[in-house]
Amino acid sequence: MATDRPVEATLGRRRRAARLILKRLTGIYPDIATALTYTDPWQLLVATVLSAQTTDDNVNRVTPVLFARWPLPEDLATASADELEEVVYSTGYYRQKAKSLLALAVGVVDRFGGEVPRDFDDLVSLPGVGRKTASVVLAEAWGDPAIAVDTHVKRVAQRLGLTANSDPVKIERDLKELYLKQTWAGISMRFIQFGRDTCDARKPRCWDCPLRDRCPFEPKTTQPRITT
Ligand code: SF4
Repeated sequence: MATDRPVEATLGRRRRAARLILKRLTGIYPDIATALTYTDPWQLLVATVLSAQTTDDNVNRVTPVLFARWPLPEDLATASADELEEVVYSTGYYRQKAKSLLALAVGVVDRFGGEVPRDFDDLVSLPGVGRKTASVVLAEAWGDPAIAVDTHVKRVAQRLGLTANSDPVKIERDLKELYLKQTWAGISMRFIQFGRDTCDARKPRCWDCPLRDRCPFEPKTTQPRITT
């Protein structure tokens, strides 16, 4: 008779290993949150859309100007495309971003009465909102169970052996299988910060890594020799 026990035992081991990794990252980053500045879900949604292909600092310089001129979705929905392009220019891809934000504002006003929906399917039904953006808003604005998979989360999860996939949707599924739902909201930002601080894409600091003993990635890097 076939048994699922070996599969369950493997999954159990993988879950224990994955949770130890998150426990260590939580110790290193106890109170982490997005570096985007916002005061409500609408502002976070707009900032997240603007953050594509640019830094959070760049976005944080632009959003105060944008929200001073168009505070609510109703205001932005009637903005002139030219004026909006001018305001978001420094975040790059300004034409596309202005177009996306206008369509997003119209969608939020027309379909959700000016309130950002607190529902994954509703969020991704809005123009310009993909899984990653919807997950960031749910996890950060409300602490809801969601895992946003960006390039850092993908790289860190792969190197640490938490996924063998490269498709973000499958990585999200793999992480959700390993972690308890109540911890999902705290995963992405910790992986992202760890990816920035230690597990860099090109130069991971393996010699100095607090997860080195849990990491199957090879070859691990060694400390560069300082020459005088
Ligand atoms: S040991 Fe290296 S590759 Fe593995 S998680 Fe740490 S920095 Fe990344």
